[in-house]
Amino acid sequence: MTATLTQLSQQQGESAPIITYRVAMPHPESHLFEVVLLVQGYSLPVLDLKLPVWTPGSYLVREYAKHLQDFSAKAGENTLLWRKIAKNHWQVETANLDNQTIEIRYRIFANELSVRTNHLDATHGYFNGAAIFFRIPRLDTQPMQIAIAPQTDWQVTTPLPAVAGQINTYIAADFDTLVDSPFEIGKQQIYQFEALGKAHELAIWGGKSNIDPEKVIADTQKIIEVEAKIFGGLPYDRYLFLLHLSTQGNGGLEHKYACSLNYPRFGFRNVDKYNRFMQLVAHEFFHLWNVKRIRPKALEVFDYDRENYTPSLWFSEGTTSYYDLTIPLRAGIYDIKTFLQNLGKEITRYELTPGRWVQPVSESSLDAWIKLYRPEANSNNSQISYYLKGEMVSLLLDLLIREKHDNQKSLDDVMLKMWQQFGQEEIGFTPQQLQEVITSVADINLTDFFAKYVDGTEELPFNQYLEPFGLQIASDDGEPTPYLGIKVASEHGREVIKFVETSTPAHAAGIDPGDELLAIDGIRVTAAGISDRLQDYQGGDTIEVTVFHQEQLRQYQVTLEAPRPTSYQVKPVSNPTEEQQQNFAGYLGEDLQKLKD
Ligand SMILES: [Zn+2]
Repeated sequence: MTATLTQLSQQQGESAPIITYRVAMPHPESHLFEVVLLVQGYSLPVLDLKLPVWTPGSYLVREYAKHLQDFSAKAGENTLLWRKIAKNHWQVETANLDNQTIEIRYRIFANELSVRTNHLDATHGYFNGAAIFFRIPRLDTQPMQIAIAPQTDWQVTTPLPAVAGQINTYIAADFDTLVDSPFEIGKQQIYQFEALGKAHELAIWGGKSNIDPEKVIADTQKIIEVEAKIFGGLPYDRYLFLLHLSTQGNGGLEHKYACSLNYPRFGFRNVDKYNRFMQLVAHEFFHLWNVKRIRPKALEVFDYDRENYTPSLWFSEGTTSYYDLTIPLRAGIYDIKTFLQNLGKEITRYELTPGRWVQPVSESSLDAWIKLYRPEANSNNSQISYYLKGEMVSLLLDLLIREKHDNQKSLDDVMLKMWQQFGQEEIGFTPQQLQEVITSVADINLTDFFAKYVDGTEELPFNQYLEPFGLQIASDDGEPTPYLGIKVASEHGREVIKFVETSTPAHAAGIDPGDELLAIDGIRVTAAGISDRLQDYQGGDTIEVTVFHQEQLRQYQVTLEAPRPTSYQVKPVSNPTEEQQQNFAGYLGEDLQKLKD
Protein backbone atom coordinates (compact mmCIF):
# COMPACT_ATOMS: atom_id res chain seq x y z
CA MET A 1 0.00 0.00 0.00
CA THR A 2 1.66 3.17 -1.14
CA ALA A 3 -1.22 5.62 -1.58
CA THR A 4 -1.81 7.86 1.40
CA LEU A 5 -5.21 8.29 2.99
CA THR A 6 -5.42 11.83 1.63
CA GLN A 7 -4.77 10.62 -1.91
CA LEU A 8 -7.34 7.85 -1.57
CA SER A 9 -9.90 10.20 -0.07
CA GLN A 10 -9.38 12.67 -2.85
CA GLN A 11 -10.04 9.97 -5.43
CA GLN A 12 -13.49 9.69 -3.86
CA GLY A 13 -14.29 13.34 -4.46
CA GLU A 14 -12.84 16.80 -3.99
CA SER A 15 -14.22 17.52 -0.56
CA ALA A 16 -14.44 14.03 0.92
CA PRO A 17 -13.76 14.17 4.66
CA ILE A 18 -10.78 12.26 6.06
CA ILE A 19 -11.60 9.63 8.67
CA THR A 20 -9.08 8.36 11.21
CA TYR A 21 -9.63 5.99 14.12
CA ARG A 22 -7.13 5.82 16.96
CA VAL A 23 -7.29 2.91 19.35
CA ALA A 24 -5.34 2.96 22.62
CA MET A 25 -5.24 0.58 25.56
CA PRO A 26 -3.32 2.33 28.35
CA HIS A 27 -4.87 0.17 31.10
CA PRO A 28 -5.54 -3.18 29.47
CA GLU A 29 -6.56 -4.86 32.73
CA SER A 30 -9.54 -2.46 32.84
CA HIS A 31 -10.79 -4.11 29.61
CA LEU A 32 -11.38 -0.64 28.13
CA PHE A 33 -10.29 0.27 24.63
CA GLU A 34 -9.98 4.05 24.24
CA VAL A 35 -11.11 5.14 20.81
CA VAL A 36 -10.74 8.51 19.13
CA LEU A 37 -12.48 9.13 15.84
CA LEU A 38 -11.18 12.12 13.89
CA VAL A 39 -13.24 13.52 11.02
CA GLN A 40 -11.44 16.16 9.03
CA GLY A 41 -13.08 18.40 6.44
CA TYR A 42 -16.67 17.63 7.43
CA SER A 43 -19.09 20.38 6.39
CA LEU A 44 -22.63 19.21 7.18
CA PRO A 45 -24.56 20.56 10.21
CA VAL A 46 -24.97 17.16 11.91
CA LEU A 47 -22.76 14.12 12.10
CA ASP A 48 -24.52 10.76 12.49
CA LEU A 49 -22.55 7.98 14.15
CA LYS A 50 -23.80 4.42 14.31
CA LEU A 51 -22.31 1.35 15.93
CA PRO A 52 -23.22 -1.88 14.09
CA VAL A 53 -25.60 -4.21 15.93
CA TRP A 54 -24.11 -7.37 14.38
CA THR A 55 -21.07 -8.55 12.50
CA PRO A 56 -21.17 -10.48 9.21
CA GLY A 57 -20.69 -14.21 9.64
CA SER A 58 -22.42 -14.33 13.00
CA TYR A 59 -26.15 -13.96 12.47
CA LEU A 60 -27.29 -12.55 15.78
CA VAL A 61 -28.04 -8.98 16.82
CA ARG A 62 -25.35 -8.61 19.48
CA GLU A 63 -26.04 -4.99 20.45
CA TYR A 64 -22.38 -4.00 20.49
CA ALA A 65 -23.44 -0.50 21.61
CA LYS A 66 -24.10 -1.86 25.09
CA HIS A 67 -20.33 -1.85 25.64
CA LEU A 68 -19.84 1.82 24.66
CA GLN A 69 -19.29 4.41 27.41
CA ASP A 70 -17.83 7.89 28.07
CA PHE A 71 -18.87 9.39 24.73
CA SER A 72 -17.76 12.97 24.04
CA ALA A 73 -17.43 15.21 21.00
CA LYS A 74 -15.42 18.35 20.34
CA ALA A 75 -13.85 20.46 17.59
CA GLY A 76 -10.73 22.36 18.54
CA GLU A 77 -11.43 23.68 22.05
CA ASN A 78 -15.20 23.58 21.61
CA THR A 79 -17.35 20.86 23.06
CA LEU A 80 -20.00 19.80 20.58
CA LEU A 81 -23.61 19.12 21.48
CA TRP A 82 -24.78 15.58 20.90
CA ARG A 83 -27.76 13.39 21.56
CA LYS A 84 -28.50 9.71 21.42
CA ILE A 85 -31.45 9.00 19.17
CA ALA A 86 -31.47 5.20 19.07
CA LYS A 87 -29.72 2.34 20.88
CA ASN A 88 -26.77 2.46 18.46
CA HIS A 89 -27.15 5.95 16.99
CA TRP A 90 -25.41 9.10 18.24
CA GLN A 91 -25.91 12.48 16.55
CA VAL A 92 -23.46 15.36 16.93
CA GLU A 93 -24.13 19.01 16.04
CA THR A 94 -21.43 20.12 13.67
CA ALA A 95 -22.65 23.43 12.23
CA ASN A 96 -20.15 26.32 11.84
CA LEU A 97 -17.01 24.38 12.61
CA ASP A 98 -14.77 26.54 10.46
CA ASN A 99 -13.12 23.47 9.00
CA GLN A 100 -11.92 22.27 12.39
CA THR A 101 -11.39 18.53 12.85
CA ILE A 102 -14.18 16.77 14.75
CA GLU A 103 -12.88 14.65 17.58
CA ILE A 104 -15.15 11.91 18.95
CA ARG A 105 -13.95 10.03 22.02
CA TYR A 106 -15.43 6.94 23.62
CA ARG A 107 -14.45 3.79 25.41
CA ILE A 108 -15.43 0.21 24.63
CA PHE A 109 -15.57 -2.41 27.38
CA ALA A 110 -13.99 -5.56 25.98
CA ASN A 111 -14.09 -8.63 28.17
CA GLU A 112 -15.67 -11.31 25.99
CA LEU A 113 -13.23 -13.75 24.45
CA SER A 114 -14.88 -15.03 21.30
CA VAL A 115 -14.11 -14.66 17.61
CA ARG A 116 -16.98 -12.18 17.12
CA THR A 117 -16.52 -9.91 20.14
CA ASN A 118 -13.73 -7.87 21.74
CA HIS A 119 -11.24 -8.90 24.41
CA LEU A 120 -8.67 -6.82 26.23
CA ASP A 121 -6.66 -7.83 29.26
CA ALA A 122 -3.10 -7.67 30.53
CA THR A 123 -1.99 -10.23 27.91
CA HIS A 124 -3.48 -8.87 24.67
CA GLY A 125 -6.15 -6.92 22.85
CA TYR A 126 -8.43 -8.34 20.16
CA PHE A 127 -11.25 -6.56 18.40
CA ASN A 128 -13.70 -6.82 15.55
CA GLY A 129 -14.44 -3.61 13.66
CA ALA A 130 -18.22 -3.94 14.02
CA ALA A 131 -17.90 -4.08 17.79
CA ILE A 132 -15.65 -1.06 18.22
CA PHE A 133 -15.90 1.41 15.31
CA PHE A 134 -18.64 3.91 14.62
CA ARG A 135 -19.73 4.14 11.05
CA ILE A 136 -20.65 7.43 9.50
CA PRO A 137 -23.49 6.24 7.27
CA ARG A 138 -22.97 8.68 4.43
CA LEU A 139 -19.21 8.02 4.40
CA ASP A 140 -19.32 4.19 4.43
CA THR A 141 -17.45 3.89 1.15
CA GLN A 142 -14.62 6.25 2.13
CA PRO A 143 -11.18 4.89 2.92
CA MET A 144 -10.28 5.18 6.59
CA GLN A 145 -7.07 5.08 8.59
CA ILE A 146 -6.60 3.14 11.82
CA ALA A 147 -3.74 3.98 14.20
CA ILE A 148 -3.12 1.61 17.10
CA ALA A 149 -1.29 2.63 20.27
CA PRO A 150 -0.36 -0.71 21.85
CA GLN A 151 1.45 -1.39 25.10
CA THR A 152 5.18 -0.83 24.60
CA ASP A 153 6.21 -4.45 24.03
CA TRP A 154 3.10 -5.45 22.06
CA GLN A 155 2.81 -5.83 18.31
CA VAL A 156 -0.14 -5.45 15.95
CA THR A 157 -1.43 -8.15 13.59
CA THR A 158 -4.24 -7.49 11.10
CA PRO A 159 -5.01 -8.35 7.49
CA LEU A 160 -5.22 -4.62 6.69
CA PRO A 161 -2.31 -3.10 4.75
CA ALA A 162 0.06 -0.92 6.77
CA VAL A 163 0.60 2.71 5.88
CA ALA A 164 4.22 3.11 4.78
CA GLY A 165 6.33 5.18 7.14
CA GLN A 166 3.75 5.31 9.94
CA ILE A 167 4.09 2.93 12.83
CA ASN A 168 1.10 0.68 13.69
CA THR A 169 -1.06 2.52 11.19
CA TYR A 170 -3.32 0.78 8.69
CA ILE A 171 -5.72 1.65 5.94
CA ALA A 172 -9.15 0.19 5.17
CA ALA A 173 -10.66 0.85 1.75
CA ASP A 174 -14.15 1.28 3.23
CA PHE A 175 -16.21 0.47 6.31
CA ASP A 176 -17.02 -3.10 5.14
CA THR A 177 -13.29 -3.79 4.88
CA LEU A 178 -12.73 -2.31 8.34
CA VAL A 179 -15.41 -4.58 9.81
CA ASP A 180 -13.92 -7.54 7.96
CA SER A 181 -10.43 -7.02 9.43
CA PRO A 182 -9.87 -8.24 12.99
CA PHE A 183 -6.95 -6.90 15.06
CA GLU A 184 -4.74 -8.90 17.40
CA ILE A 185 -2.48 -6.75 19.58
CA GLY A 186 -0.03 -8.31 22.02
CA LYS A 187 2.83 -10.77 22.17
CA GLN A 188 1.29 -13.25 19.73
CA GLN A 189 3.69 -15.74 18.15
CA ILE A 190 3.87 -15.13 14.42
CA TYR A 191 4.71 -17.73 11.80
CA GLN A 192 5.05 -16.77 8.14
CA PHE A 193 4.60 -19.40 5.46
CA GLU A 194 3.87 -19.72 1.78
CA ALA A 195 1.28 -21.72 -0.08
CA LEU A 196 0.92 -21.63 -3.86
CA GLY A 197 3.35 -18.73 -3.91
CA LYS A 198 1.16 -16.53 -1.70
CA ALA A 199 2.10 -15.12 1.70
CA HIS A 200 0.32 -16.55 4.75
CA GLU A 201 0.65 -15.85 8.42
CA LEU A 202 -0.37 -17.76 11.53
CA ALA A 203 -0.59 -15.65 14.70
CA ILE A 204 -1.12 -17.50 17.97
CA TRP A 205 -2.18 -16.00 21.31
CA GLY A 206 -3.05 -17.81 24.51
CA GLY A 207 0.06 -19.00 26.34
CA LYS A 208 0.84 -22.60 27.23
CA SER A 209 -0.59 -25.25 24.93
CA ASN A 210 0.22 -28.52 23.20
CA ILE A 211 0.08 -27.11 19.68
CA ASP A 212 2.84 -28.04 17.22
CA PRO A 213 2.83 -24.99 14.93
CA GLU A 214 4.97 -26.66 12.27
CA LYS A 215 2.55 -29.55 11.92
CA VAL A 216 -0.44 -27.19 11.89
CA ILE A 217 1.23 -25.11 9.17
CA ALA A 218 2.09 -28.16 7.06
CA ASP A 219 -1.50 -29.40 7.24
CA THR A 220 -2.89 -25.91 6.64
CA GLN A 221 -0.79 -25.68 3.47
CA LYS A 222 -2.37 -28.91 2.25
CA ILE A 223 -5.85 -27.55 2.98
CA ILE A 224 -5.08 -24.33 1.14
CA GLU A 225 -3.88 -26.26 -1.91
CA VAL A 226 -6.90 -28.58 -2.04
CA GLU A 227 -9.40 -25.73 -1.66
CA ALA A 228 -7.60 -23.46 -4.14
CA LYS A 229 -7.81 -26.28 -6.69
CA ILE A 230 -11.61 -26.34 -6.41
CA PHE A 231 -11.85 -22.63 -7.19
CA GLY A 232 -8.91 -22.35 -9.60
CA GLY A 233 -6.50 -20.31 -7.46
CA LEU A 234 -6.27 -18.00 -4.48
CA PRO A 235 -8.04 -14.62 -4.75
CA TYR A 236 -5.61 -12.74 -2.48
CA ASP A 237 -1.96 -11.85 -2.00
CA ARG A 238 -1.84 -12.35 1.75
CA TYR A 239 -4.00 -14.30 4.21
CA LEU A 240 -3.91 -14.35 8.00
CA PHE A 241 -4.90 -17.16 10.40
CA LEU A 242 -5.49 -15.69 13.86
CA LEU A 243 -5.63 -18.36 16.56
CA HIS A 244 -6.74 -17.86 20.16
CA LEU A 245 -5.94 -20.71 22.50
CA SER A 246 -8.48 -20.85 25.28
CA THR A 247 -9.76 -23.14 27.99
CA GLN A 248 -12.59 -24.74 26.05
CA GLY A 249 -13.62 -22.35 23.29
CA ASN A 250 -14.33 -23.73 19.85
CA GLY A 251 -15.25 -21.34 17.11
CA GLY A 252 -14.24 -19.49 14.02
CA LEU A 253 -15.17 -16.37 12.13
CA GLU A 254 -14.46 -15.98 8.45
CA HIS A 255 -13.11 -12.89 6.75
CA LYS A 256 -12.01 -12.16 3.20
CA TYR A 257 -8.32 -12.02 4.01
CA ALA A 258 -8.24 -13.70 7.40
CA CYS A 259 -10.03 -15.93 9.83
CA SER A 260 -10.22 -15.85 13.61
CA LEU A 261 -10.08 -19.21 15.33
CA ASN A 262 -10.65 -20.10 18.97
CA TYR A 263 -9.64 -23.57 20.13
CA PRO A 264 -8.80 -25.38 23.39
CA ARG A 265 -5.10 -24.92 24.22
CA PHE A 266 -4.65 -28.62 24.93
CA GLY A 267 -6.70 -29.80 21.95
CA PHE A 268 -3.84 -30.58 19.59
CA ARG A 269 -2.27 -33.87 20.74
CA ASN A 270 -5.36 -36.10 20.82
CA VAL A 271 -5.95 -37.20 17.21
CA ASP A 272 -9.73 -36.66 17.17
CA LYS A 273 -9.37 -33.18 18.65
CA TYR A 274 -6.57 -32.33 16.26
CA ASN A 275 -8.70 -33.47 13.32
CA ARG A 276 -11.56 -31.29 14.56
CA PHE A 277 -9.18 -28.33 14.63
CA MET A 278 -8.10 -28.97 11.05
CA GLN A 279 -11.78 -29.20 10.09
CA LEU A 280 -12.24 -25.77 11.67
CA VAL A 281 -9.33 -24.43 9.61
CA ALA A 282 -10.77 -26.03 6.44
CA HIS A 283 -14.21 -24.57 7.24
CA GLU A 284 -13.16 -20.98 7.84
CA PHE A 285 -10.76 -21.00 4.90
CA PHE A 286 -13.47 -22.35 2.57
CA HIS A 287 -15.59 -19.36 3.60
CA LEU A 288 -13.17 -16.96 1.93
CA TRP A 289 -14.97 -18.08 -1.20
CA ASN A 290 -18.31 -19.39 0.05
CA VAL A 291 -20.08 -16.56 1.91
CA LYS A 292 -17.33 -13.91 1.90
CA ARG A 293 -17.33 -13.58 -1.89
CA ILE A 294 -20.06 -15.99 -3.07
CA ARG A 295 -22.78 -14.23 -1.07
CA PRO A 296 -26.54 -14.59 -0.86
CA LYS A 297 -28.24 -11.51 -2.30
CA ALA A 298 -29.42 -10.50 1.17
CA LEU A 299 -25.76 -10.27 2.25
CA GLU A 300 -24.58 -8.42 -0.84
CA VAL A 301 -24.88 -5.11 1.03
CA PHE A 302 -24.65 -5.49 4.80
CA ASP A 303 -27.23 -3.60 6.82
CA TYR A 304 -25.40 -3.00 10.10
CA ASP A 305 -28.55 -1.73 11.81
CA ARG A 306 -30.68 -4.84 11.55
CA GLU A 307 -31.01 -8.48 10.53
CA ASN A 308 -30.21 -9.45 6.93
CA TYR A 309 -32.55 -12.32 6.10
CA THR A 310 -31.57 -15.09 3.70
CA PRO A 311 -32.96 -18.61 3.22
CA SER A 312 -29.60 -19.75 1.79
CA LEU A 313 -27.39 -20.19 4.87
CA TRP A 314 -27.90 -23.93 4.39
CA PHE A 315 -25.56 -23.46 1.40
CA SER A 316 -23.26 -20.78 2.86
CA GLU A 317 -22.76 -22.67 6.13
CA GLY A 318 -24.05 -26.20 5.50
CA THR A 319 -22.17 -26.78 2.26
CA THR A 320 -19.08 -25.28 3.90
CA SER A 321 -19.57 -27.82 6.71
CA TYR A 322 -19.78 -30.66 4.17
CA TYR A 323 -16.48 -29.48 2.73
CA ASP A 324 -14.85 -29.23 6.15
CA LEU A 325 -15.60 -32.95 6.42
CA THR A 326 -14.21 -33.89 3.00
CA ILE A 327 -11.26 -31.47 2.64
CA PRO A 328 -9.08 -33.05 5.39
CA LEU A 329 -9.65 -36.43 3.68
CA ARG A 330 -8.67 -35.02 0.30
CA ALA A 331 -5.68 -33.28 1.88
CA GLY A 332 -4.50 -36.55 3.44
CA ILE A 333 -4.94 -35.27 7.00
CA TYR A 334 -7.24 -38.15 7.90
CA ASP A 335 -8.13 -41.40 6.19
CA ILE A 336 -11.36 -42.81 4.77
CA LYS A 337 -12.22 -44.68 7.94
CA THR A 338 -12.00 -41.47 9.94
CA PHE A 339 -14.01 -39.64 7.28
CA LEU A 340 -16.78 -42.23 7.41
CA GLN A 341 -16.74 -42.21 11.22
CA ASN A 342 -17.09 -38.43 11.22
CA LEU A 343 -19.86 -38.62 8.64
CA GLY A 344 -21.62 -41.22 10.81
CA LYS A 345 -21.43 -38.85 13.80
CA GLU A 346 -23.03 -36.07 11.77
CA ILE A 347 -25.79 -38.38 10.52
CA THR A 348 -26.35 -39.47 14.13
CA ARG A 349 -26.74 -35.86 15.27
CA TYR A 350 -29.18 -35.28 12.44
CA GLU A 351 -31.22 -38.43 13.04
CA LEU A 352 -31.46 -37.69 16.77
CA THR A 353 -32.86 -34.17 16.23
CA PRO A 354 -36.67 -34.37 16.08
CA GLY A 355 -36.83 -30.71 14.94
CA ARG A 356 -35.93 -31.92 11.44
CA TRP A 357 -39.60 -32.96 11.09
CA VAL A 358 -40.76 -29.45 11.98
CA GLN A 359 -38.49 -26.84 10.39
CA PRO A 360 -37.32 -26.78 6.75
CA VAL A 361 -33.65 -25.92 6.37
CA SER A 362 -34.43 -22.80 4.30
CA GLU A 363 -36.57 -21.52 7.18
CA SER A 364 -33.83 -22.43 9.64
CA SER A 365 -31.51 -20.17 7.59
CA LEU A 366 -33.94 -17.28 7.64
CA ASP A 367 -34.56 -17.66 11.38
CA ALA A 368 -30.87 -17.93 12.34
CA TRP A 369 -31.24 -14.60 14.12
CA ILE A 370 -33.87 -15.79 16.56
CA LYS A 371 -33.28 -19.53 16.75
CA LEU A 372 -29.88 -21.14 16.06
CA TYR A 373 -27.96 -18.60 18.12
CA ARG A 374 -30.56 -18.61 20.88
CA PRO A 375 -31.06 -22.23 21.88
CA GLU A 376 -33.57 -23.13 24.58
CA ALA A 377 -35.05 -26.27 26.07
CA ASN A 378 -37.48 -26.85 23.19
CA SER A 379 -35.02 -26.07 20.38
CA ASN A 380 -34.26 -29.64 19.36
CA ASN A 381 -37.99 -30.36 19.12
CA SER A 382 -38.73 -27.46 16.80
CA GLN A 383 -35.54 -26.62 14.88
CA ILE A 384 -32.84 -28.10 12.71
CA SER A 385 -29.45 -26.45 12.34
CA TYR A 386 -28.78 -25.11 8.84
CA TYR A 387 -25.15 -26.15 9.38
CA LEU A 388 -26.11 -29.76 10.04
CA LYS A 389 -28.98 -30.25 7.60
CA GLY A 390 -27.22 -28.10 5.00
CA GLU A 391 -24.26 -30.46 5.32
CA MET A 392 -26.52 -33.50 4.90
CA VAL A 393 -28.31 -31.98 1.88
CA SER A 394 -24.91 -31.15 0.36
CA LEU A 395 -23.83 -34.76 0.82
CA LEU A 396 -26.91 -35.92 -1.07
CA LEU A 397 -26.32 -33.35 -3.83
CA ASP A 398 -22.68 -34.36 -4.20
CA LEU A 399 -23.65 -38.05 -4.44
CA LEU A 400 -26.49 -37.31 -6.84
CA ILE A 401 -24.25 -35.32 -9.20
CA ARG A 402 -21.44 -37.87 -8.98
CA GLU A 403 -23.72 -40.81 -9.70
CA LYS A 404 -25.33 -39.13 -12.68
CA HIS A 405 -21.96 -38.13 -14.18
CA ASP A 406 -19.82 -41.14 -13.19
CA ASN A 407 -17.79 -38.94 -10.83
CA GLN A 408 -16.76 -36.71 -13.74
CA LYS A 409 -18.78 -33.96 -12.07
CA SER A 410 -19.40 -33.24 -8.42
CA LEU A 411 -20.41 -30.54 -5.96
CA ASP A 412 -16.97 -29.01 -6.74
CA ASP A 413 -18.38 -28.00 -10.13
CA VAL A 414 -21.27 -26.26 -8.38
CA MET A 415 -18.79 -24.35 -6.21
CA LEU A 416 -16.68 -23.38 -9.21
CA LYS A 417 -19.71 -22.23 -11.16
CA MET A 418 -21.03 -20.22 -8.20
CA TRP A 419 -17.57 -18.66 -7.92
CA GLN A 420 -17.40 -17.75 -11.59
CA GLN A 421 -20.98 -16.54 -11.81
CA PHE A 422 -21.31 -14.66 -8.51
CA GLY A 423 -18.16 -14.79 -6.36
CA GLN A 424 -15.50 -13.24 -8.54
CA GLU A 425 -17.58 -10.12 -9.12
CA GLU A 426 -19.28 -10.34 -5.73
CA ILE A 427 -22.77 -10.27 -7.16
CA GLY A 428 -25.26 -11.66 -4.65
CA PHE A 429 -27.15 -14.80 -5.68
CA THR A 430 -30.85 -15.45 -5.12
CA PRO A 431 -32.16 -18.81 -3.86
CA GLN A 432 -33.55 -19.36 -7.37
CA GLN A 433 -30.14 -18.72 -8.98
CA LEU A 434 -28.49 -21.12 -6.55
CA GLN A 435 -31.00 -23.81 -7.46
CA GLU A 436 -30.44 -23.11 -11.16
CA VAL A 437 -26.67 -23.51 -10.87
CA ILE A 438 -26.98 -26.78 -8.94
CA THR A 439 -29.57 -28.03 -11.44
CA SER A 440 -27.41 -27.11 -14.42
CA VAL A 441 -24.41 -28.99 -13.03
CA ALA A 442 -26.49 -32.00 -12.00
CA ASP A 443 -28.39 -31.97 -15.28
CA ILE A 444 -31.38 -33.39 -13.42
CA ASN A 445 -34.66 -31.67 -12.57
CA LEU A 446 -34.26 -30.88 -8.89
CA THR A 447 -37.62 -29.17 -8.26
CA ASP A 448 -38.76 -32.10 -6.17
CA PHE A 449 -35.44 -32.38 -4.33
CA PHE A 450 -35.59 -28.75 -3.24
CA ALA A 451 -39.29 -28.93 -2.35
CA LYS A 452 -38.77 -32.00 -0.16
CA TYR A 453 -35.35 -31.48 1.41
CA VAL A 454 -34.63 -27.74 1.36
CA ASP A 455 -38.06 -26.13 1.61
CA GLY A 456 -39.72 -29.18 3.14
CA THR A 457 -39.18 -31.58 6.01
CA GLU A 458 -39.22 -34.94 4.30
CA GLU A 459 -36.77 -37.46 5.72
CA LEU A 460 -33.44 -37.48 3.89
CA PRO A 461 -33.10 -40.87 2.12
CA PHE A 462 -29.43 -41.46 2.94
CA ASN A 463 -29.36 -45.08 1.83
CA GLN A 464 -30.88 -44.33 -1.57
CA TYR A 465 -27.99 -41.93 -2.27
CA LEU A 466 -25.21 -43.91 -0.57
CA GLU A 467 -25.93 -47.32 -2.03
CA PRO A 468 -24.68 -46.58 -5.57
CA PHE A 469 -21.33 -45.88 -3.86
CA GLY A 470 -21.35 -49.18 -2.01
CA LEU A 471 -22.22 -47.56 1.31
CA GLN A 472 -25.15 -47.73 3.68
CA ILE A 473 -26.29 -46.47 7.04
CA ALA A 474 -26.37 -48.92 9.91
CA SER A 475 -27.75 -48.11 13.32
CA ASP A 476 -25.96 -49.32 16.38
CA ASP A 477 -28.48 -50.32 19.02
CA GLY A 478 -25.82 -50.76 21.65
CA GLU A 479 -27.42 -51.50 25.00
CA PRO A 480 -31.14 -51.75 24.30
CA THR A 481 -32.56 -49.09 26.60
CA PRO A 482 -36.37 -48.83 26.62
CA TYR A 483 -37.27 -45.36 25.41
CA LEU A 484 -38.34 -42.68 27.89
CA GLY A 485 -37.46 -39.52 25.91
CA ILE A 486 -35.52 -37.30 28.33
CA LYS A 487 -31.99 -35.98 28.75
CA VAL A 488 -30.76 -35.47 32.30
CA ALA A 489 -27.73 -33.65 33.71
CA SER A 490 -26.33 -33.41 37.24
CA GLU A 491 -26.23 -29.81 38.39
CA HIS A 492 -25.03 -28.87 41.88
CA GLY A 493 -26.12 -32.17 43.33
CA ARG A 494 -29.50 -32.16 41.56
CA GLU A 495 -30.52 -34.32 38.62
CA VAL A 496 -32.13 -31.86 36.22
CA ILE A 497 -34.16 -32.81 33.14
CA LYS A 498 -32.70 -30.69 30.32
CA PHE A 499 -34.69 -31.96 27.36
CA VAL A 500 -37.98 -33.74 26.81
CA GLU A 501 -38.44 -35.01 23.28
CA THR A 502 -41.84 -34.49 21.63
CA SER A 503 -44.02 -37.54 21.09
CA THR A 504 -42.20 -39.70 23.59
CA PRO A 505 -43.47 -41.37 26.78
CA ALA A 506 -42.00 -38.60 28.97
CA HIS A 507 -43.60 -35.90 26.84
CA ALA A 508 -46.98 -37.65 26.82
CA ALA A 509 -46.85 -37.97 30.61
CA GLY A 510 -46.23 -34.22 31.05
CA ILE A 511 -42.64 -34.29 32.30
CA ASP A 512 -41.01 -30.89 31.71
CA PRO A 513 -37.49 -29.64 31.05
CA GLY A 514 -36.33 -28.04 34.30
CA ASP A 515 -37.98 -30.69 36.45
CA GLU A 516 -35.70 -32.27 39.02
CA LEU A 517 -35.62 -36.02 38.56
CA LEU A 518 -35.82 -37.87 41.88
CA ALA A 519 -36.75 -41.50 41.46
CA ILE A 520 -37.92 -44.31 39.23
CA ASP A 521 -40.29 -46.72 40.95
CA GLY A 522 -39.45 -45.16 44.29
CA ILE A 523 -35.66 -45.55 44.05
CA ARG A 524 -33.35 -42.54 43.59
CA VAL A 525 -31.89 -42.24 40.11
CA THR A 526 -29.02 -40.13 38.72
CA ALA A 527 -28.14 -38.74 35.31
CA ALA A 528 -25.23 -41.15 35.14
CA GLY A 529 -27.31 -44.15 36.16
CA ILE A 530 -30.65 -43.67 34.40
CA SER A 531 -29.82 -45.55 31.22
CA ASP A 532 -28.62 -48.56 33.19
CA ARG A 533 -31.74 -48.49 35.40
CA LEU A 534 -34.07 -48.38 32.40
CA GLN A 535 -32.37 -51.47 30.98
CA ASP A 536 -33.99 -53.49 33.75
CA TYR A 537 -37.33 -52.82 32.02
CA GLN A 538 -38.88 -53.66 28.65
CA GLY A 539 -40.68 -51.51 26.11
CA GLY A 540 -44.35 -51.57 27.19
CA ASP A 541 -43.57 -51.63 30.93
CA THR A 542 -45.07 -48.83 33.01
CA ILE A 543 -42.79 -47.08 35.50
CA GLU A 544 -43.41 -44.43 38.13
CA VAL A 545 -41.26 -41.32 37.63
CA THR A 546 -40.97 -38.94 40.59
CA VAL A 547 -39.86 -35.33 40.05
CA PHE A 548 -39.98 -31.90 41.62
CA HIS A 549 -41.90 -29.66 39.21
CA GLN A 550 -41.54 -26.03 40.32
CA GLU A 551 -40.73 -27.26 43.83
CA GLN A 552 -43.81 -29.47 43.95
CA LEU A 553 -43.53 -33.23 44.21
CA ARG A 554 -45.08 -35.01 41.25
CA GLN A 555 -45.44 -38.64 40.28
CA TYR A 556 -46.09 -39.80 36.75
CA GLN A 557 -47.02 -43.21 35.41
CA VAL A 558 -45.03 -43.58 32.21
CA THR A 559 -45.24 -46.45 29.72
CA LEU A 560 -41.85 -47.04 28.13
CA GLU A 561 -41.45 -47.58 24.40
CA ALA A 562 -39.17 -49.96 22.52
CA PRO A 563 -35.48 -48.98 22.38
CA ARG A 564 -34.42 -46.61 19.60
CA PRO A 565 -31.06 -46.38 17.83
CA THR A 566 -28.58 -44.12 19.61
CA SER A 567 -26.01 -43.88 16.84
CA TYR A 568 -25.55 -44.45 13.12
CA GLN A 569 -22.54 -45.54 11.12
CA VAL A 570 -21.74 -45.40 7.42
CA LYS A 571 -20.61 -48.89 6.37
CA PRO A 572 -19.79 -50.71 3.14
CA VAL A 573 -22.58 -52.87 1.70
CA SER A 574 -21.89 -56.57 2.06
CA ASN A 575 -21.35 -57.57 -1.58
CA PRO A 576 -20.51 -54.45 -3.59
CA THR A 577 -20.95 -54.68 -7.35
CA GLU A 578 -18.28 -53.63 -9.80
CA GLU A 579 -20.16 -50.37 -10.36
CA GLN A 580 -20.45 -49.62 -6.64
CA GLN A 581 -16.72 -50.17 -6.25
CA GLN A 582 -15.97 -47.85 -9.15
CA ASN A 583 -18.27 -45.16 -7.80
CA PHE A 584 -16.71 -45.44 -4.35
CA ALA A 585 -13.19 -45.14 -5.72
CA GLY A 586 -14.23 -42.18 -7.83
CA TYR A 587 -15.80 -40.46 -4.82
CA LEU A 588 -13.28 -41.14 -2.08
CA GLY A 589 -10.19 -42.06 -4.05
CA GLU A 590 -9.64 -45.52 -2.59
CA ASP A 591 -10.61 -49.13 -2.94
CA LEU A 592 -13.85 -50.04 -1.16
CA GLN A 593 -12.43 -53.47 -0.30
CA LYS A 594 -9.75 -51.81 1.85
CA LEU A 595 -12.46 -50.65 4.24
CA LYS A 596 -13.16 -54.23 5.19
CA ASP A 597 -9.63 -54.74 6.51
ZN1 LIG B 1 -19.10 -21.22 8.90
